Amino acid sequence: MAPATLESAFSKDSTSTAVIVPSKPAVTVSYQKLSADVKAFQQQLAKHGVSAGAAVSIALPNTYEFIVSFIAAAWQRAIAAPLNPAYKQSEFEFYIDDLSSAIALVPRGAFGKDAAAVRAARKYNAAIAEVYYNGSEVVLDIKEAGKLAGKTEAVLTAQPEDVALVLHTSGTTGRPKAVPLTHRNLLRTMKNIQATYELTAKDRTYLVMPLFHVHGLLAGFLAPLASGGSVVVPLKFSASEFWVDFVEHKANWYTAVPTIHQILLRNPLPSPVPQIRFIRSCSSPLSPKTFHELEKALNAPVLEAYAMTEAAHQMTSNPLPPGKRQPGSVGIGQGVEIKILDDSGNEVAQGKEGEICIKGENVTKGYLNNPAANETSFHKNGFFRTGDQGKKDPDGYVIITGRIKELINKGGEKISPIELDNVIAQHPAVSEAVSFAVEDEIYGQDVGLSVVVKAGQKLNADELRGWLTERVAKFKLPKKIFFTDIMPKTATGKIQRRLVAEAMLKKEQ
Ligand code: ATP
Ligand code: MG
Repeated sequence: MAPATLESAFSKDSTSTAVIVPSKPAVTVSYQKLSADVKAFQQQLAKHGVSAGAAVSIALPNTYEFIVSFIAAAWQRAIAAPLNPAYKQSEFEFYIDDLSSAIALVPRGAFGKDAAAVRAARKYNAAIAEVYYNGSEVVLDIKEAGKLAGKTEAVLTAQPEDVALVLHTSGTTGRPKAVPLTHRNLLRTMKNIQATYELTAKDRTYLVMPLFHVHGLLAGFLAPLASGGSVVVPLKFSASEFWVDFVEHKANWYTAVPTIHQILLRNPLPSPVPQIRFIRSCSSPLSPKTFHELEKALNAPVLEAYAMTEAAHQMTSNPLPPGKRQPGSVGIGQGVEIKILDDSGNEVAQGKEGEICIKGENVTKGYLNNPAANETSFHKNGFFRTGDQGKKDPDGYVIITGRIKELINKGGEKISPIELDNVIAQHPAVSEAVSFAVEDEIYGQDVGLSVVVKAGQKLNADELRGWLTERVAKFKLPKKIFFTDIMPKTATGKIQRRLVAEAMLKKEQ
């Protein structure tokens, strides 16, 4: 039997179109063509000395070039390390240095412009190559050989335990941690996602999430391709082009963060609404309000999932109909064991809160160069500690109540910021609400709240507190309320509570 690696995972015999890039110049390729392009690119990587275990930093946007270089690097037993192309030089330096990258892949023209990724790669003597598709093949154009100078390598065959991908966590709660994921880890998630959503060769995914995070990479790209279906990849999310592309390329599902669903709801909907098999929401909490609005507006089941980099993305999801969808819950374990444990690793009583812990073939063996984090991240029973606080309802559906590091601890009384956000988001004048801990002399911590008011609406702190008094216990009422125009977010649209808090408190001074 062929070893379980990314190379064996692709349905090379699928007769569906594999990748459609609608951006100009548009690209449409079959599975046979994709496979041939990957093989040819792998040969170029080998020729230029990319060996087993070498880190290939991919600073490319969502393009066909990204897709081919990512798969080729993994086939070559190298480590694909996608990076946000919008990073500044110091950010590129951090990631390139952290992995001692052998080579950095940049878009055509970036070398001439001495782009940030190019300067960072040069600083650490990584080879620098422009990558572009010339209509017949994807070209690896070496501009500086750096540490690969004079080297060549054979074309290699990846093994299931090879690390195929390293991504860093988003850094929502602290410094980003490097997460190595093997072929086996990735394949497990691909199979889990395929099974959860019953993906087949008939499905067409509209991929608007960045490929440099697990959400876009695993759910939007690898899982669909392993199912033999088609992936439609615009350069980036655009509210005005979303439905045009979606309809033109006959997409039948998409996956995105709540922010994107909300933007779509604020923009004109297509008429008639296309047939959508399901909509997936992941990476940040989807408020029940947005869940209901989205289902109604698009006449499709909305399935909220729960994922993290360390799990190679997906852990739980709400199931397809006729399974029950539970707004406010991230659903049930999908090929992953989920337990709610206390700090000693013992399961808490049904319905009680604790830390969400996971076990499965998808989970990383541990962070790179971070023994301290590895020591504290796994229980003796092998369960990985997600750092998320949650509980299970009687049907086993997981409800996330917050991040352990972000729980507001008011004199021992734990307040879930997510729960508060969801309540406040229901106020008719509120467009976005983010709560966080602020220091308090008596309680140690108290509740801070940052609010974006809807355009054309008015709201003041007293009115909001009055409205909240009828909806939450008194001790949860925010001590400080800040009004703001925008909330700081990560590239994947995640709320950074820590940054929101810092920005608000700075404003106050
Ligand atoms: P860091 O670990 O560096 O603080 P991060 O945890 O934000 O960053 P990711 O791996 O991108 O980095 O995100 C995983 C986290 O995202 C989960 O642990 C969880 O807190 C959050 N998350 C994912 N999906 C959901 C969801 N559906 N609802 C609520 N939170 C979610
Ligand atoms: Mg995390």
